Amino acid sequence: MFAGKTKFEMWGRAWPGAIDRLVIKPRQSALVKAAIRDLRTDDHDLVFLHMASPDSAGHDAGWDSAPYDEAVAETDADVDRVVSAITADPELAGEVIVVLTADHGGLPGTSTHGDRFRPENYTVPLLVWGAGIEPGDLYDRNPGYRDPGTTQPGYDGPQPVRNGDIANLVTDLLDVGPVPGSQFDARQDLAVVE
Ligand SMILES: [Zn+2]
Repeated sequence: MFAGKTKFEMWGRAWPGAIDRLVIKPRQSALVKAAIRDLRTDDHDLVFLHMASPDSAGHDAGWDSAPYDEAVAETDADVDRVVSAITADPELAGEVIVVLTADHGGLPGTSTHGDRFRPENYTVPLLVWGAGIEPGDLYDRNPGYRDPGTTQPGYDGPQPVRNGDIANLVTDLLDVGPVPGSQFDARQDLAVVE
């Protein structure tokens, strides 16, 4: 696990023995470098990389501020470094799948994200890329899910793809059962490969 905020030291205490390597570096370029080195040298089943720069800049200077835009550009380049490191290594390219998401957005001109009815706050990316993944739209591939557009569906009826689905998407890709007691995608039916 590689994280950009020191508060996440608590993960090591919260799940003793569950995380075999917890690296925390507030400087994102150093963190990403360490994660890439780990990908190349260690045979982990799962690597979690938390990039904090856009969040820190947004909470500090506001969403869509110049420092925020800089942090987003930096993070875009860092994602490219990870993807390029995987593409350049045949062994990694043959087996690694990257799942990318965020926990919240933000309204330009503010530095919080507390209004849960604003799409700018709750709309997040969810991308899946890598070994065996063909380009396509998650909603085309998953007719049981409902593309929300700019609406905000509740928890009844057909569901949009939510970042809460990721735990069981990842356990599915790792070929292990769902997270015990979980509710999002508990049947592991979110399909990312044809
Ligand atoms: Zn935040």
